[in-house]
Amino acid sequence: MALFNYTKSLTLADLMEINSERVIRSKEIKITKVEQFLVTKKPSFLGSLFKKLKELFEKKPYEVLYKVLRYEVINTLNGDKHVCIIKVPMHVDRQKLMSQKVEVYCDCADFMYRCAWVLNDHNNLFLNDATKKKLGIAISTKPMKVKTSVACKHLYKCIEDLVDNYQDYLLV
Ligand SMILES: [Zn+2]
Repeated sequence: MALFNYTKSLTLADLMEINSERVIRSKEIKITKVEQFLVTKKPSFLGSLFKKLKELFEKKPYEVLYKVLRYEVINTLNGDKHVCIIKVPMHVDRQKLMSQKVEVYCDCADFMYRCAWVLNDHNNLFLNDATKKKLGIAISTKPMKVKTSVACKHLYKCIEDLVDNYQDYLLV
């Protein structure tokens, strides 16, 4: 029995590794970025120690900035609308972009029943009061009959757009 059950967080590249059927269906999705705002990282114990040391050496305040992006997504075939959220670190260069840890959320059923549990297990689920309430037991209950996925077609489309336009999103 393992004493530590440490689960590694997933990267942007990991979240794009979904089955080909979802990738193909993502072509039906049209996205609109409706909101973006910045948040600073809440430091862990080790994180605040690191922050203090870095500030001491560099003689300036050190903060890890994240951008939270909210999208409205629409399925052009049937008009279905959903909301996607991606939280991603700012000021990341192209080479390091795909290895960044991101937090994501979508309000579709595929995400709720097939992605939420596994993402939460890897600390990749975007959680606030609203998303926690919406997901309910989907966060704590492992899906039984269906194969899990790390992203739905809506999120795939948003992530693809983020990767293609990262300089507009993350360097400004
Ligand atoms: Zn979705």
